[in-house]
Amino acid sequence: MSEASPFPFDNSYARLPDRFFARTLPTPVKAPQLIKLNEALARHLGLDPESLKSPEGIAILAGNAVPENATPLAMTYAGHQFASFVPQLGDGRAILLGEVIDRDGVRRDIQLKGSGPTPFSRRGDGRAALGPVLREYILSEAMWALGVPTTRALAAVTTGEYVFRDEALPGAVFTRVASSHIRVGTFQFFAARGDKEAVQHLADHVIARHYPEARDANNPYVALLESVIARQAALIAQWLNIGFIHGVMNTDNMTVSGETIDYGPCAFMDFYHPETVYSSIDARGRYAFQNQPGIAQWNLVRLAETLLPLLAENEDTAVKLAQASLETFAQAFEAAYAAGLRAKLGFVTVRPGDETLAQELLACMAAGNADFTLTFRGLCDAAADARHDATVGSLFSDPAAFDVWAARWRARLAEEGADSEARRAAMRSVNPAFIPRNHLVAEVIDAAEKNSDFAPFERLVQVLARPYDDQPDAARYTRPPAPHEVVEKTFCGT
Ligand code: AMP
Ligand code: MG
Repeated sequence: MSEASPFPFDNSYARLPDRFFARTLPTPVKAPQLIKLNEALARHLGLDPESLKSPEGIAILAGNAVPENATPLAMTYAGHQFASFVPQLGDGRAILLGEVIDRDGVRRDIQLKGSGPTPFSRRGDGRAALGPVLREYILSEAMWALGVPTTRALAAVTTGEYVFRDEALPGAVFTRVASSHIRVGTFQFFAARGDKEAVQHLADHVIARHYPEARDANNPYVALLESVIARQAALIAQWLNIGFIHGVMNTDNMTVSGETIDYGPCAFMDFYHPETVYSSIDARGRYAFQNQPGIAQWNLVRLAETLLPLLAENEDTAVKLAQASLETFAQAFEAAYAAGLRAKLGFVTVRPGDETLAQELLACMAAGNADFTLTFRGLCDAAADARHDATVGSLFSDPAAFDVWAARWRARLAEEGADSEARRAAMRSVNPAFIPRNHLVAEVIDAAEKNSDFAPFERLVQVLARPYDDQPDAARYTRPPAPHEVVEKTFCGT
């Protein structure tokens, strides 16, 4: 492309040694059409939405043109997939165009997903189907609006081509934005090859990019490990407190930045059951809702293993340092999770019985098949006025069981400050009304796939951008699925 690039790229990953990636160009598609540009995000990234929406901009977002200062590359990584180690994965259908510095001074990757084969595609076609692209757009932007660290959606385009899965499906390219795409599996790739120099290089890059304060620590690599652990502990606590199930927490799908990444079979729970699994490929429930903290810790142990040679010269010392760091996970997670639950229940002060009270509500919800999101949202009003208890109780198959719990909750609330309006407002800022419910996501994908109708997608994205506000004209988006609408299984979409 000859004209000025709409992206003021500054590409730090491309300056790393050659073995970190494969330089790869996107493969052009037949007839790209813009589905959606995230204009607010574009502006935050210092990009001009008008230029991205022009034919030249759309060509870039489809992989048909490469801006002149881009350094397109596929990152290499490894990973434990369902606990089995795969030494060579890598971006099989994604290409990093480059990095820009956003308005907050944060470096952000701009990556195309579904942009054609790379040296790491193995048997895959390097492409993405429209459904999973819309799903990632909706889910990742919903997570951002909910306040959860996540990669983001800059754009989605259709390709005018089909991709072949079990059937022919319309193809699409997704533009993903991340504070980096470096994964636990990126470290594993080099560690598995005994390439200590590369592990160190990567660790230094991650410290410079994500954890600059670690550089001044006594042991910067221990500080790096502890920082990643802290971010992941906080992240998983947030997932649990909004009912999010990632679905495929392989080590290649866990960032070192602490952002949620790789929205494949992920889903939000409607009715609260801690053992819930949606992913069609997770037959044994390894990545069930309640297993997520344990899996995160397991993945962090894998990260720690890769860092051992950097932690200390002496192996025993290194192992001890790693173990001490890993022990911080459980405590950090429990603290963040408990704090989140307290806020959801309207408690500002910390009292000994709080965690038990919260767990008893969850148990009651599981026994009563109560909707997770509606229960907590309903508590906001009930906290201000006990007349709303009946509304919350009606979400339970046995409202009397909720009433027993609610009486104890109200006694506990009496120990809090008297300003019930302030409490209601605080609770409403952590208990969303709107989440991307599976049946709603399925409905908009259906309209897009079958009728090229993107209006339902637009509307859903718009509603989910304000998850904590009441939106009276969007009441249908708060409803749990009717029995015939329940989505039992979600798919990776690869
Ligand atoms: P995921 O399960 O989406 O995290 O992907 C696991 C691995 O498979 C990654 O290395 C992906 O890049 C690769 N992959 C997934 N889908 C495709 C595809 N359609 N073509 C090529 N590689 C793919
Ligand atoms: Mg992945």
